[in-house]
Amino acid sequence: SVHLSCPVSAITRDGSTWSLATSLGAIAADEIVLATPARLTARLLESLAPEQAAELANLDYASAAMVTLAVSKNSLGVPLDASGFLVAQTDPLPTLTACSWASAKWAHLDDPEVAILRVSAGKHGDTHALELDDPSLVQALVLDLATTMGIDAPPLEWRVTRWIDALPQYRPGHPARVAAWREGVNAEAPGIHLAGAAYDGLGLPACIRQGRQAAAAIA
Ligand SMILES: Cc1cc2nc3c(=O)[nH]c(=O)nc-3n(C[C@H](O)[C@H](O)[C@H](O)COP(=O)(O)OP(=O)(O)OC[C@H]3O[C@@H](n4cnc5c(N)ncnc54)[C@H](O)[C@@H]3O)c2cc1C
Repeated sequence: SVHLSCPVSAITRDGSTWSLATSLGAIAADEIVLATPARLTARLLESLAPEQAAELANLDYASAAMVTLAVSKNSLGVPLDASGFLVAQTDPLPTLTACSWASAKWAHLDDPEVAILRVSAGKHGDTHALELDDPSLVQALVLDLATTMGIDAPPLEWRVTRWIDALPQYRPGHPARVAAWREGVNAEAPGIHLAGAAYDGLGLPACIRQGRQAAAAIA
């Protein structure tokens, strides 16, 4: 059965099985796939695999703001003839890090007069964009869009979504560390598996692949 909105607060051994402390009470499990963000996984593994838990707790995450803008097509200085653009980390552009031309990518968002742009701000080690309030963030991004796309009018509508500590930052040597975490957890807490963005790729296809691999390992 699937229990939604049922956070796990601890995992303990119960004879040859595991017991998960949850908001619905204790749940017994033969095997567990931990697909939670690294810091939470670290907390759940603290007493079971302390060495691996300490390393997982140190995995850095970056935050990002995703701002969806509706702009008049008349205000665009460039044709929407691609899927968007990324801004290099070293570029001096102050706030914008990427812009997805959503209405060029998705037919259901296409409109003869209005373009939908999905704009990202915020990068690892630079939180200034995340510290702005919503109207100031939109204003800063509109300035960057004037620079990059020649947009010369304010947006018709906007929506800001903030993703705090959502993007794990892989450092050189990450795959070897992941292999060591899995090996260590398997030795200290057999039956507990690690999957998700903290390990073998953070794009959705990589996360889905890891989920399938973990399920296959249990089956
Ligand atoms: C702004 C942004 C844009 C992105 N755009 C793209 C994109 O265009 N394409 C792409 O491929 N990827 C994109 N990504 C990356 C991708 O979305 C993520 O890396 C991926 O969704 C992470 O999946 P996950 O299952 O590892 O983690 P999550 O989706 O974070 O899932 C973790 C789960 O753990 C649960 N949880 C937390 N605490 C507990 C607890 N105590 N007990 C039980 N459960 C708990 C949470 O409820 C959550 O469901 C983007 C990410 C961000 C932040």
